[in-house]
Amino acid sequence: MGVAIIGGGAAGYYAAICCKHFHPEATITIYEKTNKVLSKVKISGGGRCNVTHDCKYPSELLKHYPRGRKALKKHFKLFSNYHIVQWFEKKGVTLKVESDGRMFPISDDSQTIIDTFQKEIQHLGIHVKIKTPVIGLQQKGNKIELEFKEGTEIVDKVIVAIGGSNKESNYSWLADLGHTIELPVPSLFTFNMPGNPISKLMGVTAHLVSVDVVGSNFKASGPLLITHWGMSGPAILKLSSLAARHLYQLNYSFELAVNWSGAMGESAIRELIIEGANKQIKNYNPLNLPQRLWDHLLSKSAIDATTKCSELSKKGKNKLVHTLLYDLYKVSGKTTFKEEFVICGGISWDSVNRETLESKSVDGLYFSGEVLDVDGLTGGFNFQAAWTTAWVAGQLR
Ligand SMILES: Cc1cc2nc3c(=O)[nH]c(=O)nc-3n(C[C@H](O)[C@H](O)[C@H](O)COP(=O)(O)OP(=O)(O)OC[C@H]3O[C@@H](n4cnc5c(N)ncnc54)[C@H](O)[C@@H]3O)c2cc1C
Repeated sequence: MGVAIIGGGAAGYYAAICCKHFHPEATITIYEKTNKVLSKVKISGGGRCNVTHDCKYPSELLKHYPRGRKALKKHFKLFSNYHIVQWFEKKGVTLKVESDGRMFPISDDSQTIIDTFQKEIQHLGIHVKIKTPVIGLQQKGNKIELEFKEGTEIVDKVIVAIGGSNKESNYSWLADLGHTIELPVPSLFTFNMPGNPISKLMGVTAHLVSVDVVGSNFKASGPLLITHWGMSGPAILKLSSLAARHLYQLNYSFELAVNWSGAMGESAIRELIIEGANKQIKNYNPLNLPQRLWDHLLSKSAIDATTKCSELSKKGKNKLVHTLLYDLYKVSGKTTFKEEFVICGGISWDSVNRETLESKSVDGLYFSGEVLDVDGLTGGFNFQAAWTTAWVAGQLR
């Protein structure tokens, strides 16, 4: 059986390895359009490769996928973070867990992952052809004909693992075959707030805030980092992912509301201020925010920082409560988060058999990785989706 894997990224490599495991007789070739394979693995996780996330149960993993969750549910029960960790261990790569649950090779070097894959591919006799973009394919009886810039090739099965792209044209040959393409747009980015005085506090982190896109139901919570261009950190990245398509439609121009207390309500904040009694509001800092941020919020609320809590005017108190709970920021544009970004959208789940990941329009054609309409939050979830879908597609069921 001749199997072609289109795309030499994480999903393509792992699909090839799994395919050889399930079909030892198969002759497998990976076709990669550029002159480098596994290039995203190399730069991933800031060069350390955040391979997966330490979740105890598949149900916990699932919560981190704004798109593709339903389709992954069954597959995570059979192949989850646990299985990929085991696989790497078997190949001699120990993964460590960081305090936030992210898992990296103990070498802290993505090259360890690349070397492991390259060694395994060689050992299994899987062929790799670089600088060989596939530009189209056609069903020919029960076989598939691949089209290259020069020439064609007939194979029995194909796994498409071309990754995500925000250029719709990169999917056009798949759309021509009858697959629906969900509009590809970026996910996992930070927010630009040009000229906003908050950027003077760059480097300051508030440890638990909640943020929401005004006028929508999209909200997220977690740490927030103030940058020289606006805001970043887990809460912002999560919101960018949840609202990826909505923010694209708004052309990344919208109002962001920040609740600096995390999840507290108005009456709880008012209580806290009352409890401050004779303390100076500057030193009291009831939410334990970084001092520079607290000073900034007091000044934004037009409050004299030396005022005692009990002497705050009603108007001052109202303004402060409002600033703490509903602090508005104008966002204009986004910045790529260098550690990890992905594409939301791609091959629609309606175009594939969710059990096998086989195309509904071309027999013997399968999909794995980011080319599918699946993407996760930052933290190793995107690679996990690549490993799991590669394991499913590689079975060629
Ligand atoms: C900077 C950065 C850091 C990241 N860090 C992390 C991280 O630490 N943890 C995590 O979980 N996720 C991370 N991600 C996301 C993760 O890298 C992707 O989700 C993952 O690589 C998807 O794997 P894939 O194989 O589906 O696609 P890709 O890795 O994009 O591979 C697709 C391959 O197919 C090739 N190709 C495309 N079209 C064709 C064609 N027509 N013919 C032949 N070949 C073709 C491409 O050149 C590419 O090599 C990061 C992403 C970026 C951009």
